Amino acid sequence: MSIGVHPDYEVVIGLEVHTQMRTASKLFSPAPVSWGEPPNHCVHPVCLALPGVLPVLNVLAVELAIRAGLATHCTVHEQSVFARKNYFYPDLPKGYQISQYEEPICTGGWLNVPVERDGERELKRIRITRIHMEEDAGKSIHDAAVTGRDATHVDFNRAGVPLLEIVSEPDMRSPEEAVAYLRVLRSVVRYIDVSDGDMEKGNFRCDANVSLRRHGAEEFGTRTELKNLNSFRFIEEAIRAEIERQAELLDDGGRVEQATMAYDPGRRRTRVLRFKENADDYRYFPDPDLVPLVLDASHIERVRATLPELADARATRFQRDFGLSDYEAAVLTASRTFADFFEAVVEAGAGGTAAASWILRDVQRALKDRDLEIEASALRPEALAGLIAMVEGGRTTARSARGLIAELVERGGDPEALVAERGLEAVSDTGTLERVVDEVIAAHPDDVERLRGGEQKVLNFLMGQVMKQTEGKADPGVVRKILAERVG
Ligand code: ADP
Ligand code: MG
Repeated sequence: MSIGVHPDYEVVIGLEVHTQMRTASKLFSPAPVSWGEPPNHCVHPVCLALPGVLPVLNVLAVELAIRAGLATHCTVHEQSVFARKNYFYPDLPKGYQISQYEEPICTGGWLNVPVERDGERELKRIRITRIHMEEDAGKSIHDAAVTGRDATHVDFNRAGVPLLEIVSEPDMRSPEEAVAYLRVLRSVVRYIDVSDGDMEKGNFRCDANVSLRRHGAEEFGTRTELKNLNSFRFIEEAIRAEIERQAELLDDGGRVEQATMAYDPGRRRTRVLRFKENADDYRYFPDPDLVPLVLDASHIERVRATLPELADARATRFQRDFGLSDYEAAVLTASRTFADFFEAVVEAGAGGTAAASWILRDVQRALKDRDLEIEASALRPEALAGLIAMVEGGRTTARSARGLIAELVERGGDPEALVAERGLEAVSDTGTLERVVDEVIAAHPDDVERLRGGEQKVLNFLMGQVMKQTEGKADPGVVRKILAERVG
C-alpha cells in the first residue's frame, strides 16, 4: 500500500474554486467589471441595493457558465435557480448574495489530471460536483494608509461581479494533486475564454477542504476549510501546514473540529477563523426577483458548437497521431499555448515523439526554473525543431543541445549559430574518435575484460569515459561502433 504524503494518515482534499467570468458588465447590473478603477466608480443602483431596483441577468455570463460545464464534462441543466444566501457584511449592501444553491446550472463533471504517485506518472480523474453562478461581494478596506486611522472604507466596484464556483469531490490525496487539479482547471477556463484566471488579481481563487483518516479507513475524517488561497505556492503550503496541524492533533489523541481556517504564509501555519458550530445560517431561498433560468437543449448545443477543440480531444489526437502516452499528451495539452507550441515544433519539422520528449523534459525544466510560461519564453518553435534536427543528424550531441535549452528559453537565438559559436559540433570524425577510444581502452584494461566477459553495463561506463574526454561532443553512434569493433 502506498503511504502517500503521511505515514499514518491518508489525506483527503476537496476544492471550491471561484473564478471570475470574463464579462464586460456585472452579473445582474450594467455596471462595468473593472480592475484598478478608483473606488465606487463602477457601480450601479443594483450593486448598491438602492430601493426599488431589480436584478437583470447577464446573458453572456450564462453562456460562459454553459461553456465551463461542457468543457468539464458536466450535465448542463435546462433549469437552474438563483437563491438568496443571507448574511450581514458591510460590503454586501443587500444583506444577501445571489447564488445558485439547490439547483445549480451544472453538475456531475470531471477532469483528468496528470499526477505522480509512487514515482509513476499517470492521469487521475477528479470529479466535479457542481458549477454554479454567483455574484462577488464588495471590498472592505481597512488599510490605515488609505482610510485614515480607525476607519474602514467600502469599495463596491467588485460588488456583483460574476463568478463561477466550481466544487470538486473530495478526490485529491496530496497537496501536489490539489495543485495539479487547479492547474488543469485554470487552464480549462482560460482555454475556453471563460475567465482570464488571473490569480494575482484574485480572479481564480480557491478554498481547500482538508481531512485526514487512518490508512485503510472507510469513513472520511472531519474536514477544515482553508479560505481564499490565491497562489499555487500558498495553496500547497497551506494544505501541507494544515495536514501537519491535524496529524499532530490526532497523534495526541485529539479530535479535529470542523472549522474555517486561514493560512499565515509568514509563519507557515494555519489558524482557526471560526468553528463550524458558530457557522452562519444562510437561510437560502429562491430569489423572488429572478425567475428560474430555463435553457433549451438546442441552446446548450449551440454553445457546444462554439467551443474550441478541448484539451481532452486534442490529447487523444496527439496520442493517435504522434504515439504519445496519455500522460505526455495530457501535460502537453494542459494549456493551449503549450499545445500550440508543441504543434508548431512538429510543423517546423520535428517528429512528434522527439518534440514531446524535448519539450516535456528539457524545455519544461528550463521554464520551471525561471518561473516562466511558454508564451513568455524567447524559445521559438523553429529553433527547437532546428536543434532537434541537429541532434538527429549527428551534428551536435543530445548533451550539448540540452545545455543550450536554458539559454534559448531565456534569450532566444539560432541553434545553428549557437552550436558553431560554442564549438559544440559533434565529433564524428572517425580518426579522432578512434584515437580517444584507444586511449580509454588502454586506461581501463580491467573494464574492457569485464565487457568481453559479457557485462554489458560496462559499455556505458566506457562510453561515458569517451564522452568525458570529448567534453560530451562525441557522436554516440560512432563511438559505440568503434568500441564494438575494438572490443569485439
Ligand atoms: P460546504 O457548503 O459546507 O462548503 P460542501 O458539501 O459543499 O460543503 O463541500 C465543500 C467541499 O468539501 C467539497 O469540495 C467537498 O469535496 C469537500 N469535502 C467534503 N467532505 C470532505 C472531507 N471529509 N475531507 C475533505 N474534503 C471534503
Ligand atoms: Mg464551502
